[in-house]
Amino acid sequence: MNDKIEKLKFKYDHIASKDQSQIAKAEEFSKGYKEFIGKAKTEREATKFIEEYAIKNGYQKFNKNAKYKTGDKIYYNNRDKSIILSTVGKQNILDGINFCVSHIDSPRIDLKVTPMFESDQIAYFKTHYYGGIRKYQWVCVPLAMHGKIFLKNGTGIELCLGEKDDEPKFVISDLLPHLGQKQNDRKLSEGIKASEMNIIISSLPYIEEGNKEDIKDAFKLKALEILNKMYGITEKDFIRSEIEFVPATKPCDIGLDKSMVGGYGQDDRVCAYPSLIAEIEIKNNNKTTVTVFTDKEEIGSEGNTGMVSNFTFDFLEDYIKCIDESADIKEVYRKSLCLSSDVNAAYDPTFSDVFDKYNSSYLNKGPCITKYTGSRGKSGSNDASCETMARIMDIIDSKGVYWQTGDLGEVDVGGGGTIAKYMSQRNIDTIDFGVPVLAMHSPFEITSKLDIYNTYLAYKALYES
Ligand code: MN
Ligand code: MN
Repeated sequence: MNDKIEKLKFKYDHIASKDQSQIAKAEEFSKGYKEFIGKAKTEREATKFIEEYAIKNGYQKFNKNAKYKTGDKIYYNNRDKSIILSTVGKQNILDGINFCVSHIDSPRIDLKVTPMFESDQIAYFKTHYYGGIRKYQWVCVPLAMHGKIFLKNGTGIELCLGEKDDEPKFVISDLLPHLGQKQNDRKLSEGIKASEMNIIISSLPYIEEGNKEDIKDAFKLKALEILNKMYGITEKDFIRSEIEFVPATKPCDIGLDKSMVGGYGQDDRVCAYPSLIAEIEIKNNNKTTVTVFTDKEEIGSEGNTGMVSNFTFDFLEDYIKCIDESADIKEVYRKSLCLSSDVNAAYDPTFSDVFDKYNSSYLNKGPCITKYTGSRGKSGSNDASCETMARIMDIIDSKGVYWQTGDLGEVDVGGGGTIAKYMSQRNIDTIDFGVPVLAMHSPFEITSKLDIYNTYLAYKALYES
């Protein structure tokens, strides 16, 4: 191409075709990432991981009666389900805050409040799925049980069963093809119905020595007996529990070239992890950084651990006073910049018709800037201004980070939202910025290591700005 053409046109490059040296760096970065998503499969586990990691790296628990100065690193844990980390910058807080806000909940299968039943000599859990899933993808997949359950005496018990090789797993069954003819005629969205998503728990009966009579609900009783032995729980305790079933699979490399990561829960831990590392590493920052890891995004950010709740903004109000008692928080927000650190759908050549190939994000071209989300005419979208686009492009280009832009599919095919709007509601310049994902919301999502690494570089560039 001659110079004139090169100047006029613009395209996003495959990172490896421009910089081979990034492959090894991305590979190294992906090791910590795989460890994180392998260990942190629920919002509670992610919060615990992040809190421990922060403490190990010198973060202090937030105290609203303290005074904070340049270089101080603090964390604020909200109910063990969401957490905020921050590093106080050199500049006046009135110059604004640099935010990265991601979510640490992922689509999964929750238990109903009264979950146990037996049917024809098999014990089951009844479920209610959490977040947008394609139900047919979740059958015949080994599942692990995670969560927390409270005993009458107030003791909270953390559960995690099915992640270790020698631990039992759980599963939802599907029909065999030989008898699936009628089911095959269902629409794909009803291939597996929610009411059919029953998790198999056990198949042996409860036996009472010396008792020859049939015991009612013997299969459910047997399961309860085992659970009681393991955790000291009884059936009533399920009412005060939060039990989440997630794929019992381990994250791994994908492809001959090991260029990708496959695993559960990458939406949105694939953005949470790079923001965690960028936050932990930052020092001598000009502006104060605030890294939020929030819950409940997958069901609309509701609840007191999600972004609709005031927890983030109540914290900020207290925190800003600890840095500068007289600072006007509205002014701080007005000057701030927030990366709504969430994933976008990567272009999938197999299903190309749902994408606009000129406005999609692709694997290996870097993190995706999503100017607007929403559906049916951008409804429900944050729709970042051109000023905000210019601000972020300037920051990441100055550090040579690879990035791209992309919409969430072709117009009117579908759509979705992120937490961006909850930040911009406070008058904070906000833009969606995260890793492209293949097979998003499935039990096994796929991402590119080069994209993950450049997402980290981008968040770091923001924090260094
Ligand atoms: Mn997400
Ligand atoms: Mn999602």
